[in-house]
Amino acid sequence: MQYRRLGKSGLKVSLLSYGSWLTFGKQIGDDQSEALMKYAYDNGINFFDNAEIYSRGESERVMGRILNKMQWSRDSYTVSSKVFFGDGGKLPTQVGLHRKHIVEACNAALKRLQVEYLDLYFCHRPDKETPIEETVWTMHNLIQQGKILYWGTSEWSAQEIMEAHMVAQKYNLIGPVMEQPQYNMFHREKVEVEYSQIYKTVGLGTTIWSPLASGLLTGKYNDGMPKYTRLNIEGMDWLRERTITEERVNKVKQIAQIAKELDMTTAQLALTWCAVNPNVSTIILGASKIEQLKENLESLEHLHKITPEVMERLEGILQNKPARPEF
Ligand code: NDP
Repeated sequence: MQYRRLGKSGLKVSLLSYGSWLTFGKQIGDDQSEALMKYAYDNGINFFDNAEIYSRGESERVMGRILNKMQWSRDSYTVSSKVFFGDGGKLPTQVGLHRKHIVEACNAALKRLQVEYLDLYFCHRPDKETPIEETVWTMHNLIQQGKILYWGTSEWSAQEIMEAHMVAQKYNLIGPVMEQPQYNMFHREKVEVEYSQIYKTVGLGTTIWSPLASGLLTGKYNDGMPKYTRLNIEGMDWLRERTITEERVNKVKQIAQIAKELDMTTAQLALTWCAVNPNVSTIILGASKIEQLKENLESLEHLHKITPEVMERLEGILQNKPARPEF
């Protein structure tokens, strides 16, 4: 395993990490979740990602039971939660980034995960109806209370992240360290262009999500819809519709050809493509089976194959390199 600094912080996270969205407490049983987390930990993964909304709190409960059972030394791993969407309730007091919900959500996550503190705590989306001062002060206070160690954002604009930093600077508070954006071969704008300045100025770290576009970039949807996979699960129509298009599948077929030439799988090529970006601190994997996790972990062994020439060939297929603004 390789480890990278989480932005300008001193915390080193494993380049591949593991998250539980749609799997824990939903798609897979507790035994399977345990086997996956154990496999991840045994192979050097030191960051486990979670959120209050995942399976409406159940994902955190499952992870908490596993952490409690494994008894891994608390200084050997990091665990996160995210606040904004709530854990099921939709009352105005139960969602958002106001002080009441952040404090209550943090206490609930600590209880469900059975830990004394969260290493990383994310604001899952921006909250247009709460003053940024209130959110920054609350996160700072949670750090002061020892309930969280680092705080960050997810799917915030560069401007919103900078506003949080300006407030933190003004009042001498601890600002956000990391952002959790979607990043994969089909979704590039924020990571490659929008944040490009703030990697340098505030030292933003990134914990990227859906590196395989929910499995599309493994090539498993190239010949139709396989059974028992995420995008074929009942209720996942919304995700299937936004993820699978004919154009994308055609591109994945060509990417698969390059992967074959390089003697790696399509999933491994898609993951190493993310890993060569130095602004990616950690790639959150979302495997539902041990074989998938094994294949994905082995991708790092192929990192040296991703030469500028390979990247150029991939650009030729993707045709979606986001343009940088001209000055
Ligand atoms: P991926 O894009 O990697 O998708 C994971 C899914 O793809 C798996 O559950 C599996 O689905 C399939 N898959 C993975 N590896 C393989 C393989 N080698 N072969 C075949 N199929 C494979 O990541 P996620 O979308 O799960 O995102 C990762 C994590 O990011 C989440 O768990 C969560 O922690 C975080 N996240 C954060 C968000 C945010 O807003 N901050 C939003 C979404 C995710 P299956 O077996 O069912 O086909």
